[in-house]
Amino acid sequence: MGQIIVLGAGMCGLSTAMLLARDGHRVTVLERDPHEAPTAVRAWEDWQRPGVNQFRLAHVMPSRWRIEMEAELPEVIEELEAVGGLRMNPLDLLPANLRGPWRDGDERFETVTGRRPVLEAVLVSVAARTDGVTVRRGVAVTGLITDGGPVPRVTGVLAEGGHALRADLVVDCGGRRSALGSWLEAAGARRPVEEREDSGFVYFGRHFMKKGERPEGSATMLQRYESLSILTLPADNDTWSVTFVTSSRDKALRGLRDPETWHAALREYPNAAGWADGTPTPGVEVIAGIEDRHRQFVVDGAPIATGVLAVGDSWACTNPSLGRGATMGLIHAKGLRDAVRETGVDEHDKLTSLFHEWTAAAVEPMYRGTLWFDRHRLAELDADAAGVPYQPDDPKWAFSRAIIAAGLVDPDVARGYQSLASMLATPDDLVAQPGMAEKIMKFGGGAPTYALPGPGRQTLLAAVGG
Ligand SMILES: Cc1cc2nc3c(=O)[nH]c(=O)nc-3n(C[C@H](O)[C@H](O)[C@H](O)COP(=O)(O)OP(=O)(O)OC[C@H]3O[C@@H](n4cnc5c(N)ncnc54)[C@H](O)[C@@H]3O)c2cc1C
Repeated sequence: MGQIIVLGAGMCGLSTAMLLARDGHRVTVLERDPHEAPTAVRAWEDWQRPGVNQFRLAHVMPSRWRIEMEAELPEVIEELEAVGGLRMNPLDLLPANLRGPWRDGDERFETVTGRRPVLEAVLVSVAARTDGVTVRRGVAVTGLITDGGPVPRVTGVLAEGGHALRADLVVDCGGRRSALGSWLEAAGARRPVEEREDSGFVYFGRHFMKKGERPEGSATMLQRYESLSILTLPADNDTWSVTFVTSSRDKALRGLRDPETWHAALREYPNAAGWADGTPTPGVEVIAGIEDRHRQFVVDGAPIATGVLAVGDSWACTNPSLGRGATMGLIHAKGLRDAVRETGVDEHDKLTSLFHEWTAAAVEPMYRGTLWFDRHRLAELDADAAGVPYQPDDPKWAFSRAIIAAGLVDPDVARGYQSLASMLATPDDLVAQPGMAEKIMKFGGGAPTYALPGPGRQTLLAAVGG
């Protein structure tokens, strides 16, 4: 068993630390933000987390996250529910006639979710009760300690003030802005191969609360419309969020940062307008410049360094409108735990290569699939703004649009769509189901680009004064 440093106490850092500690490792989590976590019920109001940009933005956990957590760290789900986390089935947001009678197996879509500060506070609380996990806040890591050489072996980290902390293995969970690449370069390693670009989306979100009531759902959580998407996400303790997602090039929609304009726009969407019936948090939270980033630490078949591995957003992150980041991170953390089980923490080359190969096979396809969807969706939004149809030469995009449209008409496809949104299946899995592809094309093949009722661009622009 080893001494492991996990860098970053976000969603993935804490999950990684608990998984490794339960295998008997001693894990120290180093977190730059100094503020101790309050209790989960106070987390939304009281917790300052400047290290996580998206801390107060909309989050939802898909059922795959609930399923993985229940299998690996069931206390997280138990405690989340105990503090008001919402157990819900996304099929419940559909009108009853579309959902049809509940079926055996529908429970697989059930999730337990909440606002991001509440989710993270629960992870903090369970980590605090986990033998072998120590979380040290207010410790900013500034670099790596290595044994030198062109393929350095990392033996610890340097913290602000020059403190050296040694470990058998360093796991970087420093999130989407992790500096691991530059630290490795400063230590004499090759730079990781990095793909990086602005995802091109901007988010305009508000949270709401209404005691004892939640809005009636009448569609899917992610709703596509001309020029924008809307996320309607139920959360813990009678709260929920509503977020507009637009192309950052669409300057005419920037008025959505003003609360009154934001409400004027929402009123135009019959399937989402009712979600404003609650007390909103002040202002509109806006986030742009969200990067898609992927980093590879094995280059030309050889590790660029050993003794350090990146998990979660530090490894790869995307535009978040499909709500997959925390689940991909948890699956990634589990893969790391399994790789460490296989090699131990001392066989550095073997561990690095094994984890890299497993990541490329098991998690990277989720990243690539998200990127593929985002690129098409952004191009579609830009085409809407330009007033031209978006008809790419990619039959998979046409099929994907057909799934969304047919999922709003047919109960079988609604379940198929939900298995994709819940990260329980891939489009290939769906196609492999007898009769499913035919149904998708029958109900969605000839559907209009936007199946849900909503304003055309001119009406939207009139509402936002753009
Ligand atoms: C707008 C938005 C909405 C999102 N919505 C969803 C959603 O609905 N569902 C979903 O699953 N995911 C969502 N995500 C993605 C999700 O937030 C991330 O995937 C998840 O937070 C990744 O966890 P992490 O632990 O890897 O990184 P983070 O949660 O970012 O944590 C990184 C931690 O590392 C610390 N750190 C960084 N550098 C250092 C250092 N040098 N020294 C010490 N500490 C350091 C930071 O302070 C931070 O605490 C969303 C993201 C965005 C941007």
